[in-house]
Amino acid sequence: MSKDSRRISEILKTKEKFIILPHVYIDGDDLGSMLALGRAIGKIGKSVLRFIPEPIPEIFTFLPDIEYISHKAPPGSYDAAILLECTDLQRLPAGVDIKKIAKTIINIDHHPDNKFYADFNWVDPGASAVAEMVYFLIKDMDVELDYEIAINLYTAILTDTGGFQYSNVTSRTHEVISQLLSIPIKTDEVYRKVYHEKSPNVLRLQGKVMANLELSDEGKIAWSYITKDMLEQYAVDEGDTQNFVEEINQIRGAQAVLFFKEIDAKKIKVSLRSSGVPVNKIAAFFGGGGHLRAAGCTVEAPLEEAVKQVVSKTREYLNQ
Ligand code: 5GP
Ligand code: MN
Repeated sequence: MSKDSRRISEILKTKEKFIILPHVYIDGDDLGSMLALGRAIGKIGKSVLRFIPEPIPEIFTFLPDIEYISHKAPPGSYDAAILLECTDLQRLPAGVDIKKIAKTIINIDHHPDNKFYADFNWVDPGASAVAEMVYFLIKDMDVELDYEIAINLYTAILTDTGGFQYSNVTSRTHEVISQLLSIPIKTDEVYRKVYHEKSPNVLRLQGKVMANLELSDEGKIAWSYITKDMLEQYAVDEGDTQNFVEEINQIRGAQAVLFFKEIDAKKIKVSLRSSGVPVNKIAAFFGGGGHLRAAGCTVEAPLEEAVKQVVSKTREYLNQ
């Protein structure tokens, strides 16, 4: 498909031992892409470790091959490490010294702010999801689609496009989906599992988050938050609150929607969404990044202070 994809497929065909890594705060795109690519690498007879230190979000536990995920720090050395959607090396899970464990680093990403830090960099901001790229890589590896690959890539693209609704969905996205659906996948079941099987406590917590909604600048900025105590009270993992920001984003009139998650007393993860404000620039100011309309960052400050700082920065970008 592309020159970069062919080069990476050559490495996969000629080397033997691989590790695939996601970014911190795993999402459906990372996870589905990892499972699909891991399976394809296995199918060409190579060894592959699929590494995710975090718990798998509840809504994704139905994905086939999920049992191959290793949560333990990767031992040993690898011919190549494949990093999925890591804009830079700081996005890797903590404690992984990638240069130490892998001879070659391969960077596959669809974020426009990727830093091209690897030995092989394949970055396509025109892709709706990294899974859309992984589809073409698997083709270049001459691996036939099977049910497991297809449903993992499908779920990855479904979730990263918010159900095919974002502006980065193209005719190519739908062509890839059309190819994936040449395998009988029950798309209605996937949709239900991802969007309609939340646990009662996740919904209760979501209710709290919605009740805490705050607005400023005549409703042009909307935000809410979740504290560690709230997560503990409802026994919910941080990863199971990923969709909350999309729920807040349903609000009328907001140009920027912010969701603050207390990771610890002085570390707040922020998810930003917008319909016009370049939230990637706001996130970048705080050392994060992402896409024009969906971005994230981590602010090293107590919750209240983090809210103040990010809301104030967002205000600067309103109506620009
Ligand atoms: P989310 O809010 O869902 O965690 O992330 C939204 C988008 O921003 C995703 O594309 C994600 O990869 C990106 N993103 C989230 N946090 C960070 C961050 O700290 N740094 C960078 N570079 N991108 C981030
Ligand atoms: Mn993605």
